[in-house]
Amino acid sequence: MEKNAWNSYNDYDINLLNEICDDYRKFISNSKIEREVVANSISLIEEKGFVSLDEVISKNKNLLPGDKIYVNNRGKSLALFIIGDDDITEGMNILGAHVDSPRLDLKANALYEESDFAYFDTHYYGGIKKYQWLTLPLALHGVVVKKNGDVVQVVIGEEEGDPVVGITDLLPHLGQKQLKKEASEFIEGEKLDVLIGSMPLKGEEKDSVKKNILEILRNKYGIEEDDFLSAEIEVVPAGRARDFGLDRSMIMAYGQDDKVCAYTSLRAFLDAPRCERTICCILVDKEEIGSMGATGMQSSFFENAVLELCCLMGHSEPTAVSRCLTHSYMLSSDVNAAYDPLYCDVMDKRNSSYFNQGVVFCKYTGSRGKSGSNDANAEYVAKLRSIMDYHDVHFQISELGKVDAGGGGTIAYILANRNVNVIDCGVGVLSMHAPWEITAKSDIYEAYKCYLAFLKDA
Ligand code: MN
Ligand code: MN
Repeated sequence: MEKNAWNSYNDYDINLLNEICDDYRKFISNSKIEREVVANSISLIEEKGFVSLDEVISKNKNLLPGDKIYVNNRGKSLALFIIGDDDITEGMNILGAHVDSPRLDLKANALYEESDFAYFDTHYYGGIKKYQWLTLPLALHGVVVKKNGDVVQVVIGEEEGDPVVGITDLLPHLGQKQLKKEASEFIEGEKLDVLIGSMPLKGEEKDSVKKNILEILRNKYGIEEDDFLSAEIEVVPAGRARDFGLDRSMIMAYGQDDKVCAYTSLRAFLDAPRCERTICCILVDKEEIGSMGATGMQSSFFENAVLELCCLMGHSEPTAVSRCLTHSYMLSSDVNAAYDPLYCDVMDKRNSSYFNQGVVFCKYTGSRGKSGSNDANAEYVAKLRSIMDYHDVHFQISELGKVDAGGGGTIAYILANRNVNVIDCGVGVLSMHAPWEITAKSDIYEAYKCYLAFLKDA
């Protein structure tokens, strides 16, 4: 097989690749935060006949092969199932991606005024290089939940004509001392405060700029300052995903870790033909901060859902879930750090992933001697190699950088700890965790092909 995937494409491939990447650009531009991914995915799947598990349970229906079920966990995580012809205790084929991305979250007491400027105070979420967030146009996404339970959706900074907000930086003329700082402390986390206004409310003396902002929020959204106590507002780069490169071979977007794998997993799952095994797609929150919390992969929501499915198919025996998981296969659909020639000193050339060389399998992540990693079984890797070759999928196997250069993790180990066969498998990314990340279109296409082949044949 050609090493560079582009060399092997015919017209059919190019057309499908372009269609998928155009759709992906729209998807990721409209789904910047986990709640938006979940809401947009639910509208997509409801059109395709998926029914919520709660509805199935309340109607006391039995599940049959071909039934399409979804579980919405608090609007931030989603598990989708299509029941197969085989018994569920024979296992499922599972794709699992995460839908949260590094960003800045507003603090509970966020709004303040200083020197006639109004600011939002933030606490960063996930692993970021803080200096990258200065002087960018930023947008606000999220919800404000009022005491009566009303949920106000907020998106500011994305529509043409919307204002944007942002974090200031010092001019170079006065930056001599600042420029001598280590990059890690170039800007302190506490100083990542977002400038949101400068106009006073007429007739007010104290905090008149802040009061003017509150007046605007009251008029537009009906929210008061106290309502920020029960809000989740995320500050993200403003603007849509773009084709990248003069040859348009790449895509630049915010949050491609891991929405590039979430999109391709969901798309492959919805495009899959009827499968013998039950197939599943998980889109989960909180990976970037350790997968904790009720909406993270460590939550029991997924196993609880599998237990409900087993019961609805007549499996009341207590061993049903453990049998199902033990016989399941999973791709932890997550991105990989692609080889960057400008930073080759931290990459092992023979064990890196490369743009345009296909979907990336990562047998283990971890750090300091594979610590904390899910090291996938060789037998499972061999099975996947055979499926990929059969379906002409371009794939590569890599690890995350040179030994002891650093490290990281994914959701792979969590399901592996439940005795599922799991390996990380996704798209290579340049500038990972930066406000604007880059992927290669051919790798997106190969990830889609890989996920589809896996659902059908694993
Ligand atoms: Mn990730
Ligand atoms: Mn990440």
